[in-house]
Amino acid sequence: MANPHSPSPPQDNTSLLQRSTGVFAYTVRAAELVWATSKTLTFVIGGLTLIAGLLPGGIAWTGKQLIDAVVASANGTAPVDPALWWLGLEAGLVITMAAAQRGLSVANSLLRAQLGHRVNVMILDKAQQLELTHFEDSEFYDKLTRARREASSRPLSLVRSTFGLIQNSISLITYGALLLAFSPWAVLVLAIAAVPAFVAETKFAGEAFRLFRWRSPETRKQMYLETVLAREDYAKEVKLFGLGEELVTRYRDIFKTLYGEDRDLTMRRGLWGFLLGLLSTAALYGAYAWVTISAAASRITLGDMTMYLLVFRQGQGAFSAILQAIGGMYEDNLYLSNLYEFLEQEVAAPSGDETTGPAPKDGIRFDHVSFTYPDSTTPALNDVTFHLKPGTRLALVGHNGSGKTTLIKLLTRLYEPSSGTISLDGRPLEEWDPDALRDRVGVIFQDFVRYQFTVGENVGVGDVDRIDDRPPIEVAAERGMAAPFIADLPKDYDTQLGRWFKDGRELSIGQWQKVALSRALMRETADILVLDEPTAAMDAEAEAEIFQRLADLTEEQMAILISHRFSTVRMADHIAVLHKGELVEEGTHEQLMALDGRYAHLFTLQAKGYQ
Ligand code: ADP
Repeated sequence: MANPHSPSPPQDNTSLLQRSTGVFAYTVRAAELVWATSKTLTFVIGGLTLIAGLLPGGIAWTGKQLIDAVVASANGTAPVDPALWWLGLEAGLVITMAAAQRGLSVANSLLRAQLGHRVNVMILDKAQQLELTHFEDSEFYDKLTRARREASSRPLSLVRSTFGLIQNSISLITYGALLLAFSPWAVLVLAIAAVPAFVAETKFAGEAFRLFRWRSPETRKQMYLETVLAREDYAKEVKLFGLGEELVTRYRDIFKTLYGEDRDLTMRRGLWGFLLGLLSTAALYGAYAWVTISAAASRITLGDMTMYLLVFRQGQGAFSAILQAIGGMYEDNLYLSNLYEFLEQEVAAPSGDETTGPAPKDGIRFDHVSFTYPDSTTPALNDVTFHLKPGTRLALVGHNGSGKTTLIKLLTRLYEPSSGTISLDGRPLEEWDPDALRDRVGVIFQDFVRYQFTVGENVGVGDVDRIDDRPPIEVAAERGMAAPFIADLPKDYDTQLGRWFKDGRELSIGQWQKVALSRALMRETADILVLDEPTAAMDAEAEAEIFQRLADLTEEQMAILISHRFSTVRMADHIAVLHKGELVEEGTHEQLMALDGRYAHLFTLQAKGYQ
């Protein structure tokens, strides 16, 4: 990606040939997509396109017959009936044409809805397979944003342009056939006059897309500012810190830059379009003059003249429609290239399929585990080794940024260690079936999600198979201490949470944490419970009670908890102290106090605060 602050977009190095093949590169895939979306609609659109392509030539030709018949009748060489028959036929063709066009627009609308939905679902399905690192990679995130932004309109627009191109090309061929009788040269002159406009259209369409692609970080920034300015969860801070004006100014500035670029391109595109269009118009009127002179000299009939003039004028229209279609197709193709780039992003195949380990009583082992975040130079975890046996509660202690959450993310396989092995029941994590592993772990992160669902569903998401299964939800809420306040909510477990939807209730942070804790307790099969600062916003009494409950762990269960409150940390069976990604001390509270190191220092510091 180019530097978003550089003053101009990257230059175009592609050749004309590459650009023209780019126009059609994804058309086949788009057609496949449309075909798979609705075979009936594709058939209907195809058929109507053929009709709409053939009819204009037919109408022009009928018009000629009509005028010739009228002239013959006026001269007294023929009766008036044939003229009326031709008139009737022309009316019939015009009505058919109108029906075909209306049918096309109806079919296109129906297809648009289905196709947009299909592409959106493809994008969302793909997003499910991605790894966390993909979402954290800004360049990849750009691809996702770009793919999503126009997912509903672009594929259909490509199909429309393609069919439009076919329709107008058929018309042009019929016009050409009619014109051929007048002079092949006329056909040639008109075709050649259109070439410069075609080249310019391809060039500008390509430029527009590069601009669009290059500034995607800017557009994303704008979208982010819109979110901050217009969403309820940001409103409080934005108001109190008076951020509104500053953010709107930033928003405006981005618009100004983007608009400036748009304006330049639009102006150039418009100017060149006009100049090259003049060339075609000149050719057209040259041909007009030729036809007029021929008719005046009686080399062609009056009907011929009317038909040729109509054919020239409509042919001109068809040419410019083709140009527009090509310009549109180019942009649509480039959009699709981005979409498929996103959809074809390689994701690591899910590893192992083992559902048990060789040593079920071994618990969790970290063996010389190190991890460095992508784009980071210093390791977030460095050579960490420890063993957690079933039936134990481990507390992780350390300053902010010492690597506690990272350790949990590795344990839950959100990331793969850069080196070293993590094993469960004597089997490395990567050999485990991901679902089997997931069933074993109940986890709650400090930045847990507050779903704008009902409170029952907010607990139920912890075990999605039972998201609507009330009894286990109630049990989990009871264990997570959320049950008492849920009982006080207006529709107890069916109370909508958050402000996005009607009658939504907001909870206090401590109450949310209890909901989150209940969520972590939803999986009854889970024997590894991981709590990353789940109680920070709860009152001391609630926290003490929760840890008292944790003390009732069965012999098979393990708990890992991160907390900054030493009153709870000291209740753990085993304490590990992390410092700058390294495990510097471990043992029981008494052992660590006796060691008189970092833990003892931190503990005494906090104890003093309470005296
Ligand atoms: P703790 O949970 O102990 O507060 P973390 O494990 O969250 O600490 O972070 C450890 C280090 O890793 C910190 O220096 C932090 O800046 C870095 N870090 C955390 N998350 C990411 C991430 N997603 N990408 C890059 N660096 C990260």
